[in-house]
Amino acid sequence: MTSDYDLIVVGGGPAGSTAATAVALRGHRVLLLERETFPRYQIGESLLPATVHGLCRILGVADEVAEAGFTLKRGGTLRWGRAPEPWQFSFAMTPRLPEPTATAFQVERSRFDEILLRNAERVGVEVREGSPVRRVLTEGERVHGVEYTDPDGTPRTAHARYVIDASGNTSRLHGKVGGSRVYSDFFRNLAVFGYYAGGQRLPEPNSGNIFCAAFDAGWLWYIPLRDDLTSVGAVISPEHYAAVQHDPRAAWQDMIKACPEVARLLTEVPVATEQPYDQVRVRKDYSYWKTSL
Ligand SMILES: Cc1cc2nc3c(=O)[nH]c(=O)nc-3n(C[C@H](O)[C@H](O)[C@H](O)COP(=O)(O)OP(=O)(O)OC[C@H]3O[C@@H](n4cnc5c(N)ncnc54)[C@H](O)[C@@H]3O)c2cc1C
Repeated sequence: MTSDYDLIVVGGGPAGSTAATAVALRGHRVLLLERETFPRYQIGESLLPATVHGLCRILGVADEVAEAGFTLKRGGTLRWGRAPEPWQFSFAMTPRLPEPTATAFQVERSRFDEILLRNAERVGVEVREGSPVRRVLTEGERVHGVEYTDPDGTPRTAHARYVIDASGNTSRLHGKVGGSRVYSDFFRNLAVFGYYAGGQRLPEPNSGNIFCAAFDAGWLWYIPLRDDLTSVGAVISPEHYAAVQHDPRAAWQDMIKACPEVARLLTEVPVATEQPYDQVRVRKDYSYWKTSL
């Protein structure tokens, strides 16, 4: 069996773009297949310094990310535990993150992920969007290719020495390559999240912090994405699932009301109506590991 590529990467999110770019930078032939056409929505907006100053630098996109206008994040503010007052951590507290690396960004993932994917293309990865992988091709225990459909619906196959599944949490591809997902009991949570068209910011120098506040059913995140856009999500445990399943939007707003520290920041702020931020979304079972690679 001859191989068309050294590596096929399934999925063009941060994991797929990073793996594809890193391998292409070493001179290998890489094909990346992405189901959607970018930009596409994704959750996971609050980054850490290691991503911004480590991985992005290795991939060659640190300057582009720095110039994209994302909210600068210096740390986190938490209303957590018994103390009624919020407390802060800043990345600069550790000597292991000297200035100017003690910062990260709050990102609109549609824009951040697209920067990474276009960069992969620039360094020589063959990127095909609108190309969902349907099946993996195996020989014995080894995956040596994939079957996918191209944007006009034509079935295609591609072969490679290695295949990386970076198709993310909601993909079913992992079930076709052996092993199983083992879900964390402790983190078996559900998240319900949406967006406001604005919102108060914390006092400087913490205005770009993620704010996390505990309330009876779980905790809320409050992420300042732009002056006119705030990501607000509730993470709750299974006993509170029923309300979310019945009416996610109403449950989301009730949970915000149940948390005065977050509700106060959103007084008289309308919910976002611009796409893709006009929806209330639900995700669950996202904490697991895989028994085999
Ligand atoms: C509620 C919630 C909140 C989170 N908050 C944060 C946060 O604040 N900060 C943070 O760092 N992380 C956060 N995360 C985690 C973050 O979302 C993920 O770690 C990150 O998106 C994983 O990136 P990925 O590239 O592995 O997958 P994804 O971003 O999911 O990308 C996978 C890609 O594969 C594509 N794909 C899927 N199936 C196929 C197929 N068959 N063929 C081809 N392509 C396919 C998809 O279209 C997608 O573009 C959060 C996650 C959740 C669920």
